[in-house]
Amino acid sequence: MTTVLSLSEVTVEHRDGEETLTALDDVSLDVAAGEIVAIVGASGSGKSTLLAVAGALTTPTSGTVHIGDIDLSACTPRQRTAIRCERVGFVFQSDNLIPALTALDQLRLPLTFGRATHPDGPRDPAEMLASVGMEHKAGRRPHQLSGGERQRIGIARALMTRPRVLLVDEPTAALDRERSQEVVALLAREAQAHGVAAVMVTHDHDVLHHCDRVLTMIDGRLAPTSA
Ligand code: ADP
Ligand code: MG
Repeated sequence: MTTVLSLSEVTVEHRDGEETLTALDDVSLDVAAGEIVAIVGASGSGKSTLLAVAGALTTPTSGTVHIGDIDLSACTPRQRTAIRCERVGFVFQSDNLIPALTALDQLRLPLTFGRATHPDGPRDPAEMLASVGMEHKAGRRPHQLSGGERQRIGIARALMTRPRVLLVDEPTAALDRERSQEVVALLAREAQAHGVAAVMVTHDHDVLHHCDRVLTMIDGRLAPTSA
């Protein structure tokens, strides 16, 4: 099992006037290639902060984060931006598609931000579109697509550079039950097929069976979930 994403004793504190709020408290987490880990927990417990730290958007107050053999804390801000563009895919609660672009052009966009560092180079946008079952809607703009279809485009877009790490924040929040199952099954399948280490935050207990492990965030601390 190759560990791709590794958080070691990560603490994130936010200063709020006089107060210090501990959003993440000594969190350690290893995610292997091909594994999808679900994080559940109450609102405000630190789930999004965990994803922000794992994706080099937030620098921890203490502790270390590795993506492969890269220690993010040893990187300059510029290097962290490059790592984010090239090695990390983000999928958010709403798809964050660009309204003016067609489905196919949404997938071309990440390839303009940085070169793909993966030895196989970037994916082909048309092939990626087909792999999420959307090839017949290549010319549609977001307003001409359903929520589930937009989320599938968002997932495809996140995978274009062949990222090592996929970070997903409540991907089914705007979807009905059936679309939720499809979208999470797609995420799990893509992680497994391409050896991506995936972390998915969710409130949706109906989709947890697609995941390899489920952890619970409680007040900034990560605990195993008892069944
Ligand atoms: P969740 O995603 O589980 O709802 P978050 O990770 O968004 O939780 O937030 C964890 C805690 O950290 C919350 O109390 C939130 O208010 C606080 N927080 C998050 N980001 C910031 C910030 N940039 N500045 C101050 N406090 C923050
Ligand atoms: Mg959140």
